[in-house]
Amino acid sequence: FSLKSQRRANGAEPLARFGEAKKVLGDIYAEINGYVDELNGFYEDLSTDSNPSAVVKVSDEQRKGLLDLSASIRIIRETFQRDHMKVVFFGRTSNGKSTTINAMLHDKVLPQGMGHTTCCFLQVEGCSESEGYLLRDDIEEKLPLAELRSYGNALGDDDRALPSAGGYNRTLRVFHPRTAADGHANRLLQNDVVIVDSPGVDVSPEFDSWIDAHCLDADVFVLVSNSESTLTNAEKQFFHRVSQRLSKPNIFVLNNRWDASASDGLDTANMVRRQHEQRLKEFLVDELHVCTEREVKERIYFVSSREMLEARLKELGKQEKAFQQEFYKERRVEFEKFERVFEQCISRSAIHTKLEAHNRRAIEIVNKMRENCDAVQLAMGDQKRDRLLSMEESSSAFTRCREEFGRFEQACRLQTERLRAEVHVKVSADIAE
Ligand code: GDP
Repeated sequence: FSLKSQRRANGAEPLARFGEAKKVLGDIYAEINGYVDELNGFYEDLSTDSNPSAVVKVSDEQRKGLLDLSASIRIIRETFQRDHMKVVFFGRTSNGKSTTINAMLHDKVLPQGMGHTTCCFLQVEGCSESEGYLLRDDIEEKLPLAELRSYGNALGDDDRALPSAGGYNRTLRVFHPRTAADGHANRLLQNDVVIVDSPGVDVSPEFDSWIDAHCLDADVFVLVSNSESTLTNAEKQFFHRVSQRLSKPNIFVLNNRWDASASDGLDTANMVRRQHEQRLKEFLVDELHVCTEREVKERIYFVSSREMLEARLKELGKQEKAFQQEFYKERRVEFEKFERVFEQCISRSAIHTKLEAHNRRAIEIVNKMRENCDAVQLAMGDQKRDRLLSMEESSSAFTRCREEFGRFEQACRLQTERLRAEVHVKVSADIAE
């Protein structure tokens, strides 16, 4: 019963698949590590003089080869435990990036309406503590969440603001509880999604250093645009640079503040929508070449993040009234559709780009172990020939030696076969889809 069919049967959500794949990889690496240890012990046994099978010596090269594999496995296991899915939000100041992130988190995690004063990247991550906290990139001490506005605020008059010496390139990490005090679980944070809010694209031209520092490991980009205006040059330029640096980045565009179209009447709203769709299609398909004409329909949405956030806060009993304009339901359906497609996209991308590299490495390690076993078997053949040639065919030493070689050959073959059959097949089948 494979993981894939298990998932289908449980109707497991896409985000959980990243965690499942990570767990499978963890199990595979633990298993491979077990095999390496076992093989090490086996070589050790054969090379001790007290062992009767010590007719065969395993060379230092093969033994060192195994120790090197052990070390690589340890490093990989430590690294991939830190792997996560990452989404970066871009757009002009006040287009609603923070509001959109809060709507997706069903909570007011980031301060809204900070205007031009957001001086750094805010990276939201889940934590297991019941209280959230902040971490600056220059000091280790945990800071209270309540001070987010002053730390993230370049123009704040207190001296706690992050110095702008690093340009707008600094990061303030915002740790938010994966499960809130009222027991409400945060799906994105629970499933290892890291969300990055950027300073508005209008405040800084340092796009290349932004990309180097924050975007090279991003799985998805969300451009939050203002549906009341067209894309600016700065917004377009940024994504041109992104698509030159990263191969085929996954870009979504949220035309935010679509609630404003309600007062224009349906005909005008539909016409404006078609114009936006046409321009964005040209931008994503023809200019950036990041998706096809078929895919682009799933990349552009018309939403009101403010309505969505307020509706969710009201449903959770966190506020009494919620801001809603005509056609709110349609915008809500569209926001929820964006979330579904986004979750599928980020999970697929992270599994492919991040975990598959570890999967390929696991297969390489298994192949190296096999080569190692094969080399020992080959060397054993030579040793056997040399030893037997130097003995009399009829002597009892000759018979004992031949039996010992036979036992060793058998054990070595079994070890190799097990590695081939059990590990290799398991690695390929469980992760690759
Ligand atoms: P950011 O600078 O891009 O992070 O923008 P914010 O999220 O801080 O939003 C700026 C202001 O726009 C805030 O006062 C929000 O309440 C408001 N806002 C955000 N999204 C919407 C929306 O969809 N509709 C309306 N009417 N206002 C919004």
